[in-house]
Amino acid sequence: MTSLLPFQRIGVIGAGTMGHGIAQVSAQAGYQVRLYDTTEAAVNAGLARIDDNLKKGVAKGKGTEADRAATLGRLQPSLSLKAVAEGADLLIEAIPERLDLKQALFAELGQHAPEGCIFATNTSSISIAAIASAAPDASRVLGLHFFNPVFIMKLLEIVHHDGTSDAVRAAALAYGASIDKDCIQVRDLPGFATSRLGVCLGMEAIRMVADGVASAEDIDKAMVLGYRHPIGPLRLTDLVGLDVRLNIGEYLARELGNPAFEPPALMREMVARGELGQKSGQGFYRWG
Ligand code: NAD
Repeated sequence: MTSLLPFQRIGVIGAGTMGHGIAQVSAQAGYQVRLYDTTEAAVNAGLARIDDNLKKGVAKGKGTEADRAATLGRLQPSLSLKAVAEGADLLIEAIPERLDLKQALFAELGQHAPEGCIFATNTSSISIAAIASAAPDASRVLGLHFFNPVFIMKLLEIVHHDGTSDAVRAAALAYGASIDKDCIQVRDLPGFATSRLGVCLGMEAIRMVADGVASAEDIDKAMVLGYRHPIGPLRLTDLVGLDVRLNIGEYLARELGNPAFEPPALMREMVARGELGQKSGQGFYRWG
């Protein structure tokens, strides 16, 4: 199987919500994966989540015990960035959403990665070109934007900045196909394709709640039943986290100069009260 893959060795940096999922789907596809985090506890928690996902898959008949063992056998935890970078064909970062952290990481990885290694970022909103400026060769940098939970969500948004080479874009498409994702190709503009549409809809839905147009449930139902969305914009905002979306909205309003992305007063009040959605137990819905 491995010989059909576009390359062999992948390093995933950050073993949290996204990183563990990216490592999982890569190992399931046959890649040798090194998974890095800053502490043993964090990297082990990532591995435990992968094992848990795989066990649930076996219980549902979506794989065998042998598949699970083989996938785990291809995953190596690491606390050394040098070890993760050395010999890697593709490095994917899923560390916190801060430009300074991502730039520092790519600069350090660049000291150890072999020539030709592709540097990918899972950023949801930061400029790929800005992150790429810290890497040894910006033509080998692009965005691989996965969605949560990674092993379920089919979309992979491949984001190229003006300097990303055609060969790197082609390799990213081949990687996406090898892990069974549906890929879209998007230019490095704020919000890419996903957040630019999704956050705009979410902000307008919140303004509609504030205006008393309808209840949150009925606004969501309007989109689910009237427009065939699988989930309403307010429930989705609860799942993502109101605080996370507020930050993205502020960023997009500023970068695109479009007030449609400006977080409404109701959203700011809810965040100030700690009503962050699913993770806090209360958002537009009550959770747990
Ligand atoms: P997370 O907080 O769950 O995981 C981040 C991990 O990075 C943690 O395990 C942490 O220990 C580790 N880390 C922190 N600083 C580090 C450093 N300097 N070097 C290496 N590791 C470090 O975050 P997440 O939700 O997985 O998000 C990661 C990235 O993915 C962000 O850029 C985020 O915007 C993006 N993203 C998130 C989602 C989502 O739904 N959560 C979806 C798409 C993209």
